[in-house]
Amino acid sequence: MDIKSLPPIQAHVQAAADVLNANPIVQECLQALKRDEKVTLADQIAITEIEAPPFHEEVRGKDLMRRFQELGLTDVTMDPEGNVIAVRPGVGNGPRLVLAAHQDTVFPAGTDVKVREIDGVYHAPGISDDARGLAVLLQVLRTMQEYKIETVGDLCFVATVGEEGNGDLRGSKYLFHKSGMKIDGFISVDGVNIGRLLFAATGSKRYRVHFDGPGGHSWKAYGNPSAIHAMSRVVAKIGDVVPPAEPRTTFTIGTVVGGTTVNSIASHCEMELDMRSGGAKELELLEAMILPLIEAGCKEENERWGATGDNMVQVRLEPIGHRPGGQQDHGVSVLQAARAAMGVCGIELKSYDMASTDHNIAINCGVPATTIGGGGAEGNNHNVKEWYDPKDGYLGCQLAFFSALSLLGMKDVTEPLLVKRD
Ligand SMILES: [Zn+2]
Repeated sequence: MDIKSLPPIQAHVQAAADVLNANPIVQECLQALKRDEKVTLADQIAITEIEAPPFHEEVRGKDLMRRFQELGLTDVTMDPEGNVIAVRPGVGNGPRLVLAAHQDTVFPAGTDVKVREIDGVYHAPGISDDARGLAVLLQVLRTMQEYKIETVGDLCFVATVGEEGNGDLRGSKYLFHKSGMKIDGFISVDGVNIGRLLFAATGSKRYRVHFDGPGGHSWKAYGNPSAIHAMSRVVAKIGDVVPPAEPRTTFTIGTVVGGTTVNSIASHCEMELDMRSGGAKELELLEAMILPLIEAGCKEENERWGATGDNMVQVRLEPIGHRPGGQQDHGVSVLQAARAAMGVCGIELKSYDMASTDHNIAINCGVPATTIGGGGAEGNNHNVKEWYDPKDGYLGCQLAFFSALSLLGMKDVTEPLLVKRD
């Protein structure tokens, strides 16, 4: 979205940010976050070197529990899904903000996760995504503890599981749908780009589509319908779909596999379909446009050969991913507070965008949410050549700290910007 067309930060949000920024203890905290850059980086390296492959984050999770406890929190738990939840209570009766980062990486078990430093740049799979976010959480906590910051609301640190790929946001889904925890606002620290603020969630739905038919010899059984021919009809139909233009809505058939040999009528093949949208309704609409085409293509192939009964190509849909999405008003507290915090920290808002992260579930549930960057620079994410450059990384810690503090309110200084939900 064009930043120039964004409505200005609301007056009461800016006023709260100004009051906090003028507070000497808050200023000391901001300085400490800069002073302690090396501590944050040391945490980040240590976390990176504990592998957290998809669906097996438990070793990293246990280590994170210990770290939260060592920083003085007593309410530290791991939920049945594997999320680590560490609560820093407020003075009472305030809203609850979740500050989250994800534990999982995309790398399989056994990947070499040793961090190597070359000319001040740190190289290791997962060093940035999202060990940086986890280290920022710890540093925000460390600073609040050291300066005995009393927030009005509760700050709940959550290290989620299953953010990447086939994890399908299982950690945040559990948090919002099953944990029973009351959550009034949600900020995920993911990636490093502090100039980027996410205001909406790209939803996605994914299917693996299986086509099964009688198969047979290409000469002797000629006349049988083919799984590959049926799928090709489907692919051609889907290829012509025109999705809604606003918000951005996209689709692709990302993979196809199947067939046996060149001289066999294919008895089996499958394809993977990815559909995405910035709007929840538009995603439903896209799905309603595409799914009937799968049946239609299959029917055409069967009719072409007059196939009946067991001789027909059958189709089966296997859901392999659902990330609900949604939009939210630019005036919601979490977005407003993050923008005001950027101003305080001297960070220019360069991109105001939507994506698919842990915040999807929050936004879909109507909880004000965003994703912010953890600071520094990164490259080659989701690749074993991933690197992290810590230059000015402290800005990410300051942004997370100040956003959280203004949302939760500081005792005797400001009221929480976050509104308690029913
Ligand atoms: Zn990530």
